[in-house]
Amino acid sequence: MAQKNIVIVGAGFAGVYATKRLAKHFKHDKDVTITLIDRHSYFTYMTELHEVAANRVPQDAIQYDLQRLFCRRKNVKLVTDTVTTIDREKKEVKTKHGAYPYDYVMLGIGSEPNDFGTPGVKEHGFTLGSWEHAIALKKHVEDVVRRGAEEHDPAKRKALLSIVVVGSGFTGTETIGELRDWRDSLAKEYKLDPEEITFALMEMAPTIMNMLDRSDADKAERYMLKRGIRVMKNTGVVGVHEDHVDLKDGSTYPTATLIWTAGVKATDQAANFGLTQARAGRIVVNSHMQSQDDPAIYVVGDVSFFAGNSDRGEPQIVQGAEASAKTALLNIENQVAGKAADVDYKASYSGFMVSLGSRYGVANIMGWLHLSGFFAMLMKHLVNMLYFLQTYSGYYFFQYLMHEFFRTHDDRNLMRGHISRQGNVLWAVPARIFLGLMWLVDCAGKISGKESWFIDKLRLPFDWLQPATTSGASAAGADATSAASGAGADAVATTAKAVKSVFSLSYQYGKEPMMVFEKMPNWMYSITKAMIPNQDVAFFMQKTMTVIEILIGLALVAGLFTWLSGATSVMFTAIFCLSGMFYWVNIWMIPMAIAVMNGSGRAFGLDKWVVPYLQKTFGKWWYGKPKALYGSDVAK
Ligand SMILES: Cc1cc2nc3c(=O)[nH]c(=O)nc-3n(C[C@H](O)[C@H](O)[C@H](O)COP(=O)(O)OP(=O)(O)OC[C@H]3O[C@@H](n4cnc5c(N)ncnc54)[C@H](O)[C@@H]3O)c2cc1C
Repeated sequence: MAQKNIVIVGAGFAGVYATKRLAKHFKHDKDVTITLIDRHSYFTYMTELHEVAANRVPQDAIQYDLQRLFCRRKNVKLVTDTVTTIDREKKEVKTKHGAYPYDYVMLGIGSEPNDFGTPGVKEHGFTLGSWEHAIALKKHVEDVVRRGAEEHDPAKRKALLSIVVVGSGFTGTETIGELRDWRDSLAKEYKLDPEEITFALMEMAPTIMNMLDRSDADKAERYMLKRGIRVMKNTGVVGVHEDHVDLKDGSTYPTATLIWTAGVKATDQAANFGLTQARAGRIVVNSHMQSQDDPAIYVVGDVSFFAGNSDRGEPQIVQGAEASAKTALLNIENQVAGKAADVDYKASYSGFMVSLGSRYGVANIMGWLHLSGFFAMLMKHLVNMLYFLQTYSGYYFFQYLMHEFFRTHDDRNLMRGHISRQGNVLWAVPARIFLGLMWLVDCAGKISGKESWFIDKLRLPFDWLQPATTSGASAAGADATSAASGAGADAVATTAKAVKSVFSLSYQYGKEPMMVFEKMPNWMYSITKAMIPNQDVAFFMQKTMTVIEILIGLALVAGLFTWLSGATSVMFTAIFCLSGMFYWVNIWMIPMAIAVMNGSGRAFGLDKWVVPYLQKTFGKWWYGKPKALYGSDVAK
């Protein structure tokens, strides 16, 4: 087959989806090259822009490095450059710094806010259509609140501390909800009464959130009102100034922060390609997602306009972007295989989820499941996590968990701040060393002397391993209490119990400590019997287990592989419990082992050097050597 070049322009939701799947499809096909061009070296997770703007998540939490995303896809060439036009005669995609030949182009350059020419929005307003916009808004809000706190003139102070969002779609409502969440910590930081910072949502229509069912929208509205957000319906903004906005009814509203989210249009660059455009500058496509002017140019995501289902085009949302990318990539695959591009666009929208801050949201799943509050937010998180699994990115899945759940600040997570803490793990160092020493003390008795686990004397108390005369226990479970001394028990020397065993977490003289499990549960019995079927395996296992216990002990004391050592401790103690070899009085080892999985070895221990070294070495092997992406990969 002749060489085929597929060029994908825009690493947004549509572009990343298509590149991942095309790369997988053509992974054994050396004749197909896929070039992904974006002006950034990262994919922006647009649906979380408001979280960055309102300081809920770190600035880089929504930037997913393209090199990491595509590190295992050797057939993808990444280019960081701005596409300027497409030369359809030469069949080249032109960028600011180069040109890339193509057989098929997929154009997914997204959308940008549309202010419909409202005077003053560009000069004095803010929008939320890119990472840069989010950062600018965040800085501005911090700045006006700081200035507002210092301002003595009441009118100026009011304007500085009023935040106005125009438009009640996804972007507007999510942004105002998130900013409201930020209010109290902002007020605390700048020594303000939180009530002084006010929020208003302005909507031209008589109702808000019109993309949702009325019942869901009403719930969201009630929540906003409860949080003190002023919801102003039938309110058109016709002019924006430095310290106020002009309303359609002739009045003014004081604010130094107007966030315009009332419209979306195709990015201005869509006009540079010489392709037919429809309303809001979107490029017209047929049902195969091909531009109506050139079948080699596919247009996907927010920038495309398909009139097949509605004269307003498809909704500019992630599901629409991915559905259009899927149609286009299947058609490209067909064409590369010499078949017709005959796959039609199929809209599939499984619902909507809108968050109003970190703890409350409303969701409509498949049109029949309506959720609000905690469960709606949980659903939104699950969908986001699913996204990373679908894009095969375990790394970013993990990062998402961190910034949304475990490393949040100001109690701004779904669990109202629970499960998140950024404390000093140094305090776990004594516990880690103590736990390690306990393992070593336990093993000290097992490595030498008559009780040694290294001589060929059976230490495991399981009935099927005992000589015939002593193996009287039922098949349902070994009588583990015959192992008189727990983990260090001499199973063979079965002794009659002098006293009844008593549950206790202390070990008093004259009392028999209680086993966590007197008998192995049936399932554990079957597994253990299958794994240790005879005495030869048992001798090997008892020696191996002792060596591992010593290694765990040494590693914990030295702070080496702390997480792994803690996790192995938990696993071992759980196995001992289930095997009928562990006393309640030692149960503290499990929570303590969990506690030391917090990386205390990095605060004080060998992990300080070892973990970064391994991360670097593994990172290089898996993700490749980090390259300069800006300007280094230009076609000559
Ligand atoms: C704040 C906010 C919240 C949202 N919330 C939701 C939500 O909850 N649910 C939902 O479904 N949708 C939501 N959306 C809409 C959703 O983000 C978009 O529908 C989606 O991002 C569209 O994907 P896309 O691939 O078409 O474009 P984008 O994701 O915007 O990607 C376009 C890419 O093209 C690149 N690009 C643009 N021009 C050029 C050029 N000339 N050269 C090179 N590269 C270029 C850009 O850098 C960008 O990476 C939200 C949008 C915003 C702004």
